[in-house]
Amino acid sequence: MEIINRRKRMMSVARRLRREENRNIGFVPTMGALHDGHLSLIHEARALCDVVVVSLFVNPAQFGPKEDFKAYPRDLPRDAALLAEYNVDYVFAPAVEEMYPPGFSTYVTVEGLTDKLEGAARPRHFRGVTTVVAILLNIVRPDFGFFGQKDAQQAIVIKQLVRDLAFTCEIVVAPVVREESGLAMSSRNSYLTGDERRAALVLNRALLKASAAYQDGEHNATRLIDLVTATIENEPLARIDYVSINDAETLENVDKVDERPALLSLAAFIGKTRLIDNIVLGKTKKNVISANA
Ligand code: AMP
Repeated sequence: MEIINRRKRMMSVARRLRREENRNIGFVPTMGALHDGHLSLIHEARALCDVVVVSLFVNPAQFGPKEDFKAYPRDLPRDAALLAEYNVDYVFAPAVEEMYPPGFSTYVTVEGLTDKLEGAARPRHFRGVTTVVAILLNIVRPDFGFFGQKDAQQAIVIKQLVRDLAFTCEIVVAPVVREESGLAMSSRNSYLTGDERRAALVLNRALLKASAAYQDGEHNATRLIDLVTATIENEPLARIDYVSINDAETLENVDKVDERPALLSLAAFIGKTRLIDNIVLGKTKKNVISANA
């Protein structure tokens, strides 16, 4: 496994793999502090692709001024050891100045889809995400890009980006990986105290309650949202940011969950830590979505 810090080196390695060795490339972008959620993406990439490239980059452009960019956990030696164990071929771990050199002034925005949910709660977050992903896709030029359903809106936004700007990779979305307790894995879980970690279980519990109600015939979105809200409000350490039901592919608002799969998503503070989680109601989505579908 080679760790690469420079754009130029990453570009020339990727070009050689594609052109001279005719090998296909799977790319897994991450912000590091790796956990089993990330590793599940790497596992899928390993199964589908000849070469696996993982990026570790805490992207300042996607954090708001009052958010946790400085505090975000970073542990390159531990991450690199894990990635070597998972037979990753290349780790791309650039410094901030390598990604955003002095004078950097081009940003990519996906309109519409980014106005709601995480986009409404975190202005300019997705502008940072789509910009860094566009740069990374241009550097690595992967055949497949792997993203987690944990960040469901992000996955939808990235698919739109790839379609609109004609990136040639296919986007694979892998299911949410949870701890045995049901808590969705997240690098931010490391901020939680013991009590908060127990309190955070209410998020998944609330989603499962709504899913059970849906399966029992409750298809009214407002009532399903109310059920989630009431469950979370019972937990004193939790404070809801939003709970929403949207079309799982277009993110359009949904009044009644019918034929099309619906995304039930939420964000909540547990103490000072903001966590997100989601579940899909209805038929599950296709796993691999062609960029040009
Ligand atoms: P991050 O390092 O948080 O930016 O995440 C990098 C990638 O891993 C994103 O595509 C996330 O959606 C995905 N990811 C993070 N947590 C999970 C999880 N619990 N299950 C599945 N994928 C995840």
